[in-house]
Amino acid sequence: MIEWVHRIKPRAYTAVLFDFDGTVSVIRQGWQDIMYSYAVEVLLAAPHAEDEEAVWRLVRDFVDELTGKQTIYQMIRLADEVLQRGGQPLDPLAYKHEYLRRLWDRIEHRVADLEAGRADPDDWMVPHTRQLLEALRSRGLTLYLASGTDEQYVKNEAAALGVTAYFDGGIYGALDDYQNFSKAQVIAKLIADNSVAGSELLGFGDGFVEIENVKEVGGTAVGVASDEEKRSGMDGWKRERLLKAGADVIVGDYREQETLLSGLLLERK
Ligand SMILES: [Mg+2]
Repeated sequence: MIEWVHRIKPRAYTAVLFDFDGTVSVIRQGWQDIMYSYAVEVLLAAPHAEDEEAVWRLVRDFVDELTGKQTIYQMIRLADEVLQRGGQPLDPLAYKHEYLRRLWDRIEHRVADLEAGRADPDDWMVPHTRQLLEALRSRGLTLYLASGTDEQYVKNEAAALGVTAYFDGGIYGALDDYQNFSKAQVIAKLIADNSVAGSELLGFGDGFVEIENVKEVGGTAVGVASDEEKRSGMDGWKRERLLKAGADVIVGDYREQETLLSGLLLERK
């Protein structure tokens, strides 16, 4: 299903920016639950924490709102919330390491199976991603990948999925020196590198931040409300967030990519 939110005219785009987790890869499927429950556990230990239900609501809200930015920002916010409730927060980096340790427990075997050839890469991607990447490249568009996940993981997982070569514009991820990376910075770079207008940028993402960033420069944003577990249909929660962020189009996956692309792209002569 394709939901055309805004009336858009096909354009001749130059560059396409992809988010990674939930937009291309579902290797990290389930990360939200791990982050929510870890943050709730940390917050409930603070002296003046609200009841569990209220803490869950708070955590879901700030985690989702910051999705697409680097993980460290969610952890900085967590430390802030602990402080506000009379607790002594850890360094946000320590929160991040513990979250990643819990997540890695869950996904380690997925990456290992892919690397060893025991798993089919297409089973760990949003349906029909590979065909979409191929279709965009065959039209001469330059593809960029930008993720809030640490860069070495993104590169590693993109390689395990066999999609590295599609991203001729480069693969960018979070750096330890976190002020030197943001999706907005990647967008600024790709606009400068290609000397294109922001309106020639097409973006795909399942998070709030990348949709906002693409819209801010005048580009077109496809919100991907992927259901990472079922790998079909749409995730209602993501859809709502993506609409709020200003997505022009919403899809659940790329099964109907021909219709999608013919509604988006003006064929170059
Ligand atoms: Mg994502």
